[in-house]
Amino acid sequence: MICADVGGTAVKSALISVGRVRLPQSYKIKNFASVPTRSDLGFEGVRENVLKAIEAVSADDIADIVAIATAGEVRWDDGTVVKATSSLPGFCGYAFSKDISKTLGRRVVVVNDACAAAVCEHYFTAKRAHSTFVLTIGTGLGSAMVTEGRLDADHVKDLELGHIPYVDNGYDCRCGSKGCLEQYLSATAIKRDAGKNTVKDALTDTGDQKCIAAKVSFFSALDYALCMIKRDYAPAEILLGGGLAEMKNLWLDEFYAKFGHTDVRAARKGNKAGLLGAAYCALNGVFEDQ
Ligand SMILES: [Zn+2]
Repeated sequence: MICADVGGTAVKSALISVGRVRLPQSYKIKNFASVPTRSDLGFEGVRENVLKAIEAVSADDIADIVAIATAGEVRWDDGTVVKATSSLPGFCGYAFSKDISKTLGRRVVVVNDACAAAVCEHYFTAKRAHSTFVLTIGTGLGSAMVTEGRLDADHVKDLELGHIPYVDNGYDCRCGSKGCLEQYLSATAIKRDAGKNTVKDALTDTGDQKCIAAKVSFFSALDYALCMIKRDYAPAEILLGGGLAEMKNLWLDEFYAKFGHTDVRAARKGNKAGLLGAAYCALNGVFEDQ
């Protein structure tokens, strides 16, 4: 089957072969591609790039079903995007699943990207926890929780913690609000505060006061988020995903030393979690209308 992961920077896609739909170990990524999202091109341009990414890994004989993980808030039952930031222009209210399904003439399942990552982390492991919370820290901040049970809207929840208010009258957010948590807990925030072009530079320059302050601000926001997640959702496990988790060597031990939370780990499947999770959702999920 074909899977795509639509983010603000790139649309990743893969051809995934599946031995048995309920057996995560039998999911194998065969072919991988990445196409720039190009949100500057507007809705039609982004939609075109999603189709390009899908086509790049397509093999007509296997691609009977297409699974898409996407940024933005997605209605589980029909794959419509109900909320999206400027990284996916014009996607608010877009019937993503129905439109792509009509264009390709195949069944298309669309889920939120944090939900897909959480589904992957929850199911693609030998020792399954009762509930898995995934916080993805990348360009933006994603959050989703999966609870053991039927793979439906009640057990897979997109929590949109990125847009809860964190600082009164703080930085403008891509969602139109001010002071959202994402503006303090994301790669974008770290680069902005440190005045650096890459997160790596921001986290490794120990002689630069702005970089030190950026790290302190990032750590405080992460501590705030983790305390809130533990208090309000009490998941059996919390995993960190996204670009920041991939460079955990640069900061995670220091965060443990200063704030604790040593029970919180980096996600196991890294940046393939969205693709694998979308595949698992499409084949095992219970949807009313997609
Ligand atoms: Zn926001």
